[in-house]
Amino acid sequence: MPAQNALEAHIKKLIRAHGPITVAHFMELALTHPEYGYYARRDPLGAQGDFTTAPEISQLFGEMVGVCFADYWLKLGAPSSFHLVELGPGRGTLMADILHATQHIPGFHTAMRLHLVEVNETLRTAQRKLLTHPAITWHSHFESILCDAPIFVIANEFFDALPIHQCVYTERGWRERMVALENDSLRFALAPAATPINNLLEESAPIGGVREISPSSLSAINAISKAIATKGGLALIIDYGYTEHAAYRDTLQALKSHRYHPILETIGEADLTAHVDFAALSEAASAHCPVWPVATQGHFLTTLGIRLRAEKLATQASEEQRKALQAALHRLLDPSQMGTLFKVLSFSQKQIAPAYVET
Ligand code: SAH
Repeated sequence: MPAQNALEAHIKKLIRAHGPITVAHFMELALTHPEYGYYARRDPLGAQGDFTTAPEISQLFGEMVGVCFADYWLKLGAPSSFHLVELGPGRGTLMADILHATQHIPGFHTAMRLHLVEVNETLRTAQRKLLTHPAITWHSHFESILCDAPIFVIANEFFDALPIHQCVYTERGWRERMVALENDSLRFALAPAATPINNLLEESAPIGGVREISPSSLSAINAISKAIATKGGLALIIDYGYTEHAAYRDTLQALKSHRYHPILETIGEADLTAHVDFAALSEAASAHCPVWPVATQGHFLTTLGIRLRAEKLATQASEEQRKALQAALHRLLDPSQMGTLFKVLSFSQKQIAPAYVET
């Protein structure tokens, strides 16, 4: 049996005292326990880390997000003050590329106040070093941002890190998947009776079908869409996930050093993610705002002009850099890579479509 770490010992103690915990509670502890959680201190990104994200692949990604925001800000009549909020900014790379792409838009940077929602101290330090804009504040939650002007929100690979509940449809109806103890080892087990999450599930499903529900994601979307409905602006939520409501798949996975890892082993040392339920997030946002149809990342980037921008960069690039640009385009756009698995959800106060949406 592998040696247990402090977080595993803590979780076992919790279960001994109070009984099995939900997958959502397990995920929350594994990812954001203030001392031992995966996101408490480590930098998970890049070749040395556990996974790589689109902004870490190429500057082109953040530049296209910048183009989308600048275009939208102009469509709103260039308001003299607005908030630009990033959820889970990682190393700050995406924000740096957004700032770079928008630096020559007259008035955009002077109108902007930046807010970074980040729990990880190591990443906050990296962001502080990279981003030199004079008006930046850090937050632990979106809800603590005082929104008194239009709000532009970007989240890339943030929602996949928020806790999910998992439920399995059985002959006796929905049963929640729990983390329990069996002979002093952690195991997944179904709750013997209905749990509160049952109230949020549809009546029936194929036997064995799994539904994943993320109340933390829904409440974040609720807060963002309410703020945008009141003050104006646009949110772009980019992540990997699905749009059909009845996928009934277990998508929870752990990743360590770019490989799949057993979920209940070396807890807090591997990244833990679930696919994002874009149908559920769209529905939550639509309670407050017009929601634009979910697009694939490939469509989003292509429509905003990523190929043109790559061609322009290529004119001043070495042969090696040109090859790297081609490889990056392939990774970001190709359906076999990130092009279709990754999706973009956007919502806004007004019926003004963002530039990548065909109306
Ligand atoms: N957006 C970045 C990083 C993605 S990794 C990129 O695309 O490269 C996920 C990011 O979300 C990290 O910055 C992590 O520290 C942060 N994070 C994870 N869970 C969080 C939570 N509950 N609250 C705030 N930030 C969180």
